[in-house]
Amino acid sequence: MPDFVPVLKKEDIGKAVASMARNISADYVDRDLTVIGVLNGAFIFMADLVRHLSIPVEIDFVRVASYGAGIESSGRIQLTKDVETNIKGRNLLIVEDIIDTGLTLSYLTDHLKSFGPHSIKICTLIDKRERRKTKIHVDYAGHVIKKGYLVGYGLDHAEKYRNLPEIYHLKF
Ligand code: 5GP
Repeated sequence: MPDFVPVLKKEDIGKAVASMARNISADYVDRDLTVIGVLNGAFIFMADLVRHLSIPVEIDFVRVASYGAGIESSGRIQLTKDVETNIKGRNLLIVEDIIDTGLTLSYLTDHLKSFGPHSIKICTLIDKRERRKTKIHVDYAGHVIKKGYLVGYGLDHAEKYRNLPEIYHLKF
């Protein structure tokens, strides 16, 4: 059984989500916005984030597969569900649970650009920096960590632990 070392408690998550939502709401006043969640990991964070926004938004989702059931990114990114709304000319905000190498977001940003949106920004709950392999600009980050494999609040290990209300470092 692995150890679960607490990283973010409910209050920490709540504060980070509310603060990001305030900044996003201020930045998009009087502008359109489509919030695009990256399934599966972002589903809980996205649900909390959009409920804190004070501006009208459209919601869409994409799903990507990259990790398989392990804890190492395979580097092979597969889009298994695409956007379903019209995002041409729209301002997009991609919502991720965690950014590690950055390969998933580079791939997704390039993919979404092909629809001709007006702008694309990136929001992540966790910005994990040590293994970054691409140059991506993270516009809104809830919490920065160096390394470690995290679970809970949407983050899984082999599809388990997503339902934990707090975030833990999983130590094997
Ligand atoms: P990247 O392409 O940036 O290396 O990886 C992004 C994706 O890998 C995230 O959306 C997430 O699904 C997964 N991932 C990266 N680091 C972690 C982690 O610490 N815990 C979990 N559960 N997933 C992670």
